[in-house]
Amino acid sequence: MIPQHYKEMLSHKSVIRQVSEYGAARAAEIGAENVFDYSLGNPSVPAPAEFTAEMRRLLAEAEPVALHGYSPSLGISSVRAAVAESLKDRFGLPYETRHIFMTSGAAGAIAHAFRAVCEPGDEVVTFAPCFPEYGPYAAGAGLRLRYAACLPDFQPDLASLEALITEKTAAVLINTPNNPTGAVYSPKSMQGLADLLREKSARLGRPVYLISDEPYREILFEGVSAPYTACLYKDTLTCYSFSKSLSLPGERIGYLAICPGCEGEDILADVCGQISRGTGHNCPPSMIQLAVAKVLGKTADLSVYETNMRLLYDELAALGFTCPRPGGTFYIFPKALEEDAAAFCERAKRYDLLLVPSDSFGCKGYFRMAYCTDTGKVRRSLPALRALAQSYKTGR
Ligand code: PLP
Repeated sequence: MIPQHYKEMLSHKSVIRQVSEYGAARAAEIGAENVFDYSLGNPSVPAPAEFTAEMRRLLAEAEPVALHGYSPSLGISSVRAAVAESLKDRFGLPYETRHIFMTSGAAGAIAHAFRAVCEPGDEVVTFAPCFPEYGPYAAGAGLRLRYAACLPDFQPDLASLEALITEKTAAVLINTPNNPTGAVYSPKSMQGLADLLREKSARLGRPVYLISDEPYREILFEGVSAPYTACLYKDTLTCYSFSKSLSLPGERIGYLAICPGCEGEDILADVCGQISRGTGHNCPPSMIQLAVAKVLGKTADLSVYETNMRLLYDELAALGFTCPRPGGTFYIFPKALEEDAAAFCERAKRYDLLLVPSDSFGCKGYFRMAYCTDTGKVRRSLPALRALAQSYKTGR
């Protein structure tokens, strides 16, 4: 029998994907250049040339088994060592090979982190608005996801978090720089969060783990600095992805980094290896592991995202939208011009402007724009944005 809960999911499909599918169908009708599709967080810039060159070199020179064979379950040892070394250099924590578990993107890292430190039935608290897939990720691990609030500037509301931490709470899940808001949690917020978790862990007599989802770590604007979470709180599992920083989402590659000194550090990577026997997220592609190991610390040219952010932010502000200025990522999250965000986004389609309503991000009345697209297109979309705002003034 097909399980009922999967059948129920069919009527709650990813809204982002639905808008993106609509965009593809509309592009086939009127041409992709005429559709202002701000739905999917699919990076628009090429992977760094060094990555492509390394892929070519590997294809030409590497042994077939090294290239196309199964990876060890925890990841290729030399790759894990290179990741640990790179984290040690960048953030000053004494990572070793044993702290790194290679995964299929951040999604794979979160799947393992959830199972490694939570029992089915436990609670995990995150901050809303948040990435909608956290719901299915938690449900798949048998966890109850609870939502703390954000402040109006989308910094985490620590009082709201505090009220939700109970003896059932196994972990707190954060994402900074944040999808969908573009907020980068400030040093003050992060310090407050770490202090709160230390206090709660002491009271509960066990660690409340911090699962830090960081696929946008390198996409920062205008000199904003983002504290490295694990430097502030030792019981941190960092979920990283090369999807956004290297523009490789289709290659499905990332890692879980267990903070040195974390409770269970000696066995957590091994535990993840056992978990991967059941999740199906096992043995990420060998060739891609080898290639990313050669470009650690490098990124694609991410500057277009800041250019796009400025263009959109300035236009949205001029049109009267309420919207905190993003500090990173390639998302912006303004307030819709009517209470019903879905109706607002539906109206935007009249102008072939494809926006994602906020409801599936866990809050009402906003919309998300993913501006990982070329700047020329962002410029050409501005008249559509103006026409949409104007339609609310004229009532037509
Ligand atoms: N976490 C957040 C906040 C994301 O935005 C995404 C993808 O968009 C993911 C996790 C999953 O990323 P990956 O492609 O690395 O699995």
